[in-house]
Amino acid sequence: MMYDIILIGLGPAGSIFARCIDKRFSVLAIDKKTADGFAKPCGGLLAPDAQKALAELGLNLPKDVLVDPQIFSVRTLDLDSGLVRNYQRMYINLDRRKFDLWLMSGLPENVTRATGTVTAIERADDGYTVKYAAGGQEFTARAKILVGADGAKSAVRHFICPKLKTRTYMSIQQWFSESNPVPFYSCVFDSENTDCYSWSVSKDGSFIFGGAYPIQGARAAFERQKEKLAAMGVKFGVPLRTEACLVLRPTGLKSFCCGKDNVFLIGEAAGFISPSSLEGISSAVISGIKLAEVLNAAQSSPQSRYKRKVRRLRLKLAAKNLKNPFMYYPPLRKIVMKSGIKAIDVK
Ligand SMILES: Cc1cc2nc3c(=O)[nH]c(=O)nc-3n(C[C@H](O)[C@H](O)[C@H](O)COP(=O)(O)OP(=O)(O)OC[C@H]3O[C@@H](n4cnc5c(N)ncnc54)[C@H](O)[C@@H]3O)c2cc1C
Repeated sequence: MMYDIILIGLGPAGSIFARCIDKRFSVLAIDKKTADGFAKPCGGLLAPDAQKALAELGLNLPKDVLVDPQIFSVRTLDLDSGLVRNYQRMYINLDRRKFDLWLMSGLPENVTRATGTVTAIERADDGYTVKYAAGGQEFTARAKILVGADGAKSAVRHFICPKLKTRTYMSIQQWFSESNPVPFYSCVFDSENTDCYSWSVSKDGSFIFGGAYPIQGARAAFERQKEKLAAMGVKFGVPLRTEACLVLRPTGLKSFCCGKDNVFLIGEAAGFISPSSLEGISSAVISGIKLAEVLNAAQSSPQSRYKRKVRRLRLKLAAKNLKNPFMYYPPLRKIVMKSGIKAIDVK
């Protein structure tokens, strides 16, 4: 089958791109997740930047995507110094699986959806050939343009920028039934177990604890950290399920890859995720919109136009690394937390 565009991945980046691309393009959108199967491991917190990007598209969140309760502060636990501070946060607490399904539900008619796993990408005379497995069969499709929205472990990024090594962590999340007396959202710094961070969030009677760890020894670090938190009074209960995936943490502009030769990358596949908070939904939405705008305009050099369109996003994400010493270097973090700057009192 020949299409104008093959889009791989229907997470926030791919779904938003598919909603925004002009109707004159025939698009094949391939994603391996099913309604009741795969769910992206995620804290499911929609940051103000993501809210703004959805608002600019005129998209309103349906209420069944939200979870209970909505929490307006983050309890920051510094296990190195023993300091605890609360900070105001304006996140929307949502069900990530339902959020993805809702985004996927609004695809226009020019987008053909295939539920399957991409197994091979090859160059062809007139563009690219993509092979994917679905329902026990293998399918082949071709297109002039390939869009990679396939997340942190992107096969499209590997195909087009095989040498690019963006700093990567193993993210592990575990779900428990809530046994803490008051639901809360936390952010944990613990340099003994990770130079990134961990989090917890309460959702609809469940308590989720997760973190991003160096890939070697990730599971052991996760368990050690749980023990430390349990000793501080955090209640974990019996695990209901455990999920894990890779998460990127860009170190600078060179960590990003926007694509080349009519292959475009959006969302985390391009490396667009905050290196300080690992917040990635806003960058996924913004880059999906920007790429659709470039292709819809049908002007020359779409590759460099797209790179320019996401310049602000790339600079903003790279600049977040400047904030990192104040969050991740224990002596500086201690000074910031001790000072109480921006902290709020929670009774
Ligand atoms: C544990 C964890 C917690 C996080 N918490 C938050 C948070 O609270 N808030 C926030 O803003 N960000 C959070 N992030 C980051 C955020 O989840 C990602 O940055 C965001 O999902 C990126 O969106 P995307 O559309 O680029 O990729 P993804 O959401 O990863 O979507 C990629 C899609 O591609 C599909 N796919 C991949 N490979 C193939 C293949 N070979 N064939 C077919 N389909 C394929 C997948 O099924 C998936 O649907 C978190 C990340 C992790 C790991």
